Amino acid sequence: MALINCHECGREVSDSASLCPGCGAPIPTSQLKKSDRVPYSDQEVAIMLSKKKKTSHILHLILSVITGGLWIIIWVLVAISNSSDNSKIESQIKKGKKVK
Ligand SMILES: [Zn+2]
Repeated sequence: MALINCHECGREVSDSASLCPGCGAPIPTSQLKKSDRVPYSDQEVAIMLSKKKKTSHILHLILSVITGGLWIIIWVLVAISNSSDNSKIESQIKKGKKVK
């Protein structure tokens, strides 16, 4: 929670307040968020989460057996790459989207 200055009286007001306790002036939404980012909607979050990659462990296990264990290297690389992509998606969701 941060403090912002009321645009009417200049008093410090909590950014979660909708009215200034000093003069009763409404705190505009644009002042509520100092950042230019807003959270994604539930629908957008769902779309982004659906882009997360799942490592198909069974497929990799079969390929590892067929190739005599050589595939394990690729398996690990794919798993690492997928988890880094997934954490990027999650941090993007946490940060919110940029306001145009
Ligand atoms: Zn005020």
